[in-house]
Amino acid sequence: MSFAGGCLCGGVRFTVQRRHLNAVHCYCQMCRKAHGTAFSTHAVIRPEQIEWVSDPAALVKFESSPQAFREFCPTCGAHVLVHGQTGDNTQAIPVGLFDGDPPVTVLSHIFVGERVGWYQITDTLPQHAGWPEGFGRPS
Ligand SMILES: [Zn+2]
Ligand SMILES: [Zn+2]
Repeated sequence: MSFAGGCLCGGVRFTVQRRHLNAVHCYCQMCRKAHGTAFSTHAVIRPEQIEWVSDPAALVKFESSPQAFREFCPTCGAHVLVHGQTGDNTQAIPVGLFDGDPPVTVLSHIFVGERVGWYQITDTLPQHAGWPEGFGRPS
């Protein structure tokens, strides 16, 4: 299946080839600052599954922690990519960038240790204080 997406202004466009989209809600302080929201929802995608319609080199890159990058549309500021945090080459795309209302399976809440008190989690999905086991850069 393919999922088309892009930024708010339409300057950034891509297609992701996957059977389905799996996502996590991340409550870390960096996601909160980067998105201005209580949490961000990212789909984890292998780089070869992303087909760029626009030039990915046009994205503005910010190193939010050592070797971990957040990339933005230079025109509208939409958050397009997060990568490097897991110590491998997986890419995270905020699922709100996908056009329409594609099927997305939210697997868990991560970094709930950094959640703000003004947002309460009311579902029964698994919650992880930081990375779920098996993810993240080994410390
Ligand atoms: Zn844009
Ligand atoms: Zn985060």
